Amino acid sequence: MKLGIFSDVHGNLDALEAALAFFDDQHVTEYLCLGDIVGYGAEPEECVRLLRALRCTMVAGNHDYGVGGKTPVNSFNADAREALLWTQRHMTLVIRDFLGALELVEVVPAHSFRLVHGSPSAPRCWDYVLDWSDVEYEFNFFSDRVCLIGHSHVPFAARHEPASSRPHRIEGPEFELLTNGTKYLINVGSVGQPRDGDPRACVTIFDPHGQHFSFHRVEYDIASAQRKIVNAGLPEFLATRLARGR
Ligand code: ZN
Repeated sequence: MKLGIFSDVHGNLDALEAALAFFDDQHVTEYLCLGDIVGYGAEPEECVRLLRALRCTMVAGNHDYGVGGKTPVNSFNADAREALLWTQRHMTLVIRDFLGALELVEVVPAHSFRLVHGSPSAPRCWDYVLDWSDVEYEFNFFSDRVCLIGHSHVPFAARHEPASSRPHRIEGPEFELLTNGTKYLINVGSVGQPRDGDPRACVTIFDPHGQHFSFHRVEYDIASAQRKIVNAGLPEFLATRLARGR
């Protein structure tokens, strides 16, 4: 029973459908989403409905709470704010309420996974875990084996072995999760708006058989997602950046 783990779909249905087709190919049967299902992209409602139909476990991102009325709209930058107000206008109340009711943290006890959008130290503050000093700091704020995050749209994996005084970066797209008390902090990147220079959708898969964790990039129809953003009257920058992955 493999788990498909991903984040920051941001209303990009083209990217989400490609990611889910890839998960299907890989025999994924369980889904974990780390928030920001909406905001920026032109098909937010469709993305939420698709993930609900899959019984995906989700936590709230800042955009989800923005649309759901829980995070003030004026805390977002200009493009994000415009997209957020557009998203609110193009979404049914039932889905907006659903987003506003998402939890900030979820735990998957079967694998000792903690799910949070921004940072385990302050899930409500939407801090970015970007620098290595941030990574080291955040390890102090969870006791689960793995903390999975999103928010920065830049994937990384780090591990902290019990005998070691500090965490280490994990290089390469796949690794095995140790069961000797080692803890992991993993940013799963972004499906709908990658910002690490690779415009393909970023997803991860955990296979409990062998404790295998892997990062993958999935091609999708970027031009289609861009067209929808422009035709919707959303800021054009949100379309152009998809091709650059920045
Ligand atoms: Zn995001």
